[in-house]
Amino acid sequence: MTLPLGIDFEFRKLIMDVHVSSDKIKYCYQCSRCTDNCPVAAVANPFYENIFDPRLIVLGTLLGYKDVVMALAGTKSAIVPWGCTVCDTCDEVCPQGIEVTEIIALAKNITTGAGLAPDNVVAQTQAVFENGKAIPSQPAIERRREQLGLPAVAAPDVNEVQTLLKAIGVDKKL
Ligand code: SF4
Ligand code: SF4
Repeated sequence: MTLPLGIDFEFRKLIMDVHVSSDKIKYCYQCSRCTDNCPVAAVANPFYENIFDPRLIVLGTLLGYKDVVMALAGTKSAIVPWGCTVCDTCDEVCPQGIEVTEIIALAKNITTGAGLAPDNVVAQTQAVFENGKAIPSQPAIERRREQLGLPAVAAPDVNEVQTLLKAIGVDKKL
């Protein structure tokens, strides 16, 4: 399932409104420094149908092209916006001080709200909801830690994690 093609002014306004320095987005001059320094764009694109390009994400936002920002969301080949690891490199190198990661975070939220989050993201979220952490503890890991003389990892407070996730409606999206 893909989102409909076309200019979406509401989407554009939404992203402008949440950006901490919304005026700055308008001054993106497409220098591509964000893309040139993005570790995901450097290695992942040959493996996906659509390309992951922070510069294009900013341009798509400015033009109101929701599809460019969330292309192929909800499919197994989705990398926009989900490929972003939130390493913040793009934010740090942008000469205009644009917070590209904020745009991407909102795109992820919109995609999730539309029920288009990729299966692996939903499964990972489910694991956090059920276990309080992304990777549940396993006897093999615990034995290995003991062999290496590492302390046992404290169990998370699952109730507390679930309370927090429910407060932002995550349970309803799973
Ligand atoms: S580095 Fe900044 S100004 Fe350059 S393309 Fe990326 S967002 Fe735009
Ligand atoms: S925060 Fe995301 S888009 Fe920006 S450089 Fe890192 S992986 Fe790329």
